[in-house]
Amino acid sequence: MTLTEPAGFFIDGAWAAPSTSQRIDIIEASTGRALTTVPQAAEADVDTAVAAARRAFDNSGWSSWTPEARAKAIYSLAEALEARAAATAQTVSIQNGMPISISSTSESVVPATLLRYYADLAVRHPAEEHRPGFAGGTTIVRREPIGVVAAIVPWNFPQTLTFFKVAPLLAAGCTVVIKPSPETVLDSYVLAEAIAASDIPAGVINIVPGGREIGAYLVAHPGVDKIAFTGSTAAGRAIGEVCGRLIRPVTLELGGKSASIVLDDADLPSLLEQFFAATLMNNGQTCYLGTRVLAPRHRYAETVDILTDFARSLTVGNALDPATQIGPLATATQQQKVQNYISRGVADGGRITTGGGRPAGTDTGWFVEPTIFADVDNSHTIAREEIFGPVLAVIPYADLDEAIAVANDSDFGLGGSVWTSDEQRGIDVARRVQTGSIGVNNFSLDFCSPFGGIKASGLGRELGPEGLAAYQQSKSIFLTTTR
Ligand code: NAD
Repeated sequence: MTLTEPAGFFIDGAWAAPSTSQRIDIIEASTGRALTTVPQAAEADVDTAVAAARRAFDNSGWSSWTPEARAKAIYSLAEALEARAAATAQTVSIQNGMPISISSTSESVVPATLLRYYADLAVRHPAEEHRPGFAGGTTIVRREPIGVVAAIVPWNFPQTLTFFKVAPLLAAGCTVVIKPSPETVLDSYVLAEAIAASDIPAGVINIVPGGREIGAYLVAHPGVDKIAFTGSTAAGRAIGEVCGRLIRPVTLELGGKSASIVLDDADLPSLLEQFFAATLMNNGQTCYLGTRVLAPRHRYAETVDILTDFARSLTVGNALDPATQIGPLATATQQQKVQNYISRGVADGGRITTGGGRPAGTDTGWFVEPTIFADVDNSHTIAREEIFGPVLAVIPYADLDEAIAVANDSDFGLGGSVWTSDEQRGIDVARRVQTGSIGVNNFSLDFCSPFGGIKASGLGRELGPEGLAAYQQSKSIFLTTTR
């Protein structure tokens, strides 16, 4: 089946007509042009999607298929997505401004990679294990799928972050209702088309785009067993409160304000490609970026100069241009929010060494220049709050203890990096930083290892075997016999 003209929402393996006439405006980030409008889900549509996911979980047999059988279907989805890789990259970049060089190596590649990784992992990790009982006998410990998952995702990496959830939950035998952000809906149509072309049974994956109200409705829906959320800390808190009341399992992947700690022996000029990926990737709209750059006081001026020259050297332009390194922000609201933070940074005493405004030659679109702030204190607003734009704050430190204290003096704890010529020294520093993940001379997510935050950056982990366990619940069957 090929689905090209979305007539509504992808539910139960087909397009379901919308229950209302509500529409979402789709705007191109690089030009500000209104492209089209698409249906926006209302409560009745969410009810239909949850009912389909519920039926698929309770009655279709999917949850009790063997891991091998599920792996085969999951592989078919990976292939169907790969066949549509170009469309995925294009639709993401048009909507959220992600440079096409990134979307064509992440958004259109990561989903299939994760699908295969988790399909294989579930086959290798049997869902049942026999343990000798503490006082004799045997206990059969089963890892059972948790049920119907509501996956709520942001716009910054819409497909990658969807598959941080969908790949392990499928492998575990769960079903899902995905709620994409209203800012990035078109890529979810490409996904729907791929699902329809795959061997994933009807109702296992359902998609209802809409805003926060419909997201909140989905979170509290009685037909849902678990929430997997990626987004802002503010929304995560609201969702966590509801899940606490309902005693509903929840994974929260939230915001960050990570530190990039430049040690006094770092050779930053030779690491700028990695430094870019760790601090400015996707126009600064990546949750784990180390946007607080901590530099030793005796090399502070030199570090600021290196970063200033580097920011000036970046190619800013239309997201669809393969040469673009920094594209526009995703929305006009996001652009305004970043400009407000820049004004606040100046008001607090920060010094802009480059950037700060709209780049020359970009009359339309949601652009902000790559911006470097020097003379920032860790108490300044731009050092405390997540800006989510191409803005770095360079903060001086006197010695290593102070660097680590400043890195840890944050409400967040998501990513981070250490830059040094001595890897062992980098590891020693990394061990002392309070965060969910941190890189030495890079920040490069490893799909085999857990990713997630501490403090206000979240609860739970995605990726790696931990990411599969997040969609399983254990059951113990006690036996008096030895098996
Ligand atoms: P957001 O919180 O505004 O929205 C995220 C998603 O949640 C959207 O689909 C939105 O419609 C929905 N939503 C919002 N409020 C809700 C509520 N009360 N109940 C249910 N659903 C709700 O975030 P955003 O602006 O789309 O994304 C940017 C944020 O996401 C940043 O803070 C960024 O750091 C964070 N993020 C975190 C990670 C991570 O893995 N930790 C990854 C990417 C982005």
